[in-house]
Amino acid sequence: MKKIHPATKLTCTLACAALLAYAPAVLASGGGHDGPAVKVKSAEATVKAAISGNDQFTGHNDSHHFDGFQTGQTPTLTVVTCSDSRVHTHLFGMAPDNNIFVIRNIGNQVKNAEGSVDYGVRHLPTKILLIMGHSSCGAIKAAMGDYSGETKGIKAELDNLKPVIAADDKSGDANARWSKNVERNVDYQVKTALELYREKIAAKELTVVGAVYDFNDHYGKGRGRLVITNINGETAPNKIMDHPVLKELSRGEIVNHVGSLAPAL
Ligand SMILES: [Zn+2]
Repeated sequence: MKKIHPATKLTCTLACAALLAYAPAVLASGGGHDGPAVKVKSAEATVKAAISGNDQFTGHNDSHHFDGFQTGQTPTLTVVTCSDSRVHTHLFGMAPDNNIFVIRNIGNQVKNAEGSVDYGVRHLPTKILLIMGHSSCGAIKAAMGDYSGETKGIKAELDNLKPVIAADDKSGDANARWSKNVERNVDYQVKTALELYREKIAAKELTVVGAVYDFNDHYGKGRGRLVITNINGETAPNKIMDHPVLKELSRGEIVNHVGSLAPAL
């Protein structure tokens, strides 16, 4: 397993800068900026950091780093996740280069990037499609409220979350509902993928895994855990635990990485 390289840091720098430059509205509305103060860099300092970071990256990775993927890619995992700057592939502990095909948009939605998901699943093709939501997703929070003042583009993407929000009974603690809706959205996106790739799943060429990257410890498994909440539409944790795709995991790993907060849609 390769060490995480500075590219990850670079990506974060760019993504964080983009989010900050984008201004508050929808993404930051639930974006979880209630932690330590975020240091705002000027545009010039941000570009400088990105270029210096790239020089560090090429300094740490000589040209042989790129030998294996000069003319094509051979990833084994397609991931649909949120554009949120707190979510990055370094959570998998492996170098993402040529290993992980990533599609990102607000609210980790399949329909909003169907062609890109098709590319990962049908052309590469990877055997696993992971749909990954995350703690305190600003897109989910925005979809739970009034977003009529947003731009046409944002409204169009949030509108696709309506079936998720419709399943919320709107009772109880708002933050608890928010977390459950994150999981419901993962279930909804898995359901969408099951419809798109039904024949590949039936032929056992593809497994769709739904999970939440839980950096808030809402599932009680520790901050930063990837918690599997759905496999091919199965959402009962005891049944997920017995799914054959998890057979190389130890019992402890399964217990630490399978959970549920919300009833299925
Ligand atoms: Zn999000």
